[in-house]
Amino acid sequence: MRFLADEMIKKTAKWLRLLGYDTEFFTGNDTAVLNEAKRSGRILLTKDEELAERARAAGIPFLFLKQERLEEDLAIIMDKYDLKMGFPEKTRCPECNGELEGKDCASLEGIPDDVVAEKRRCWKCTGCGKNYWEGGHWKNIKKVLEKIEEQKIILSKKK
Ligand SMILES: [Zn+2]
Repeated sequence: MRFLADEMIKKTAKWLRLLGYDTEFFTGNDTAVLNEAKRSGRILLTKDEELAERARAAGIPFLFLKQERLEEDLAIIMDKYDLKMGFPEKTRCPECNGELEGKDCASLEGIPDDVVAEKRRCWKCTGCGKNYWEGGHWKNIKKVLEKIEEQKIILSKKK
């Protein structure tokens, strides 16, 4: 399952990468975005109603997102395509969509001392080279993941 996100939902797209899904952005006019979706075979995610209509007319797979909240958008996407939470095992680089490779923290630069000392998990992006580690920010990530799960339950009750 691969996605192409329009510019309006960059944040949602970064979270999809974090959840483990191959998601690219595309900047350009509507025609260029539609051509890219067609060329790449990616599912178009958009908050632009006109673009969604054009995708429908052209037979390009798309999902129109009209929610304001990140967690709602993500719950809708996950529900629609039956996606699993891939964090952190399948997480892709939120910055460049590259795959992350598990690394020994001590072999990487810029990792906080306590992370190295406690032998927590570290990764390096195979695309842009950015390092990631299991740190204090995980609490915030997990809070968002919990909110997504809550939204998924709300969605399933509406069915
Ligand atoms: Zn990267």
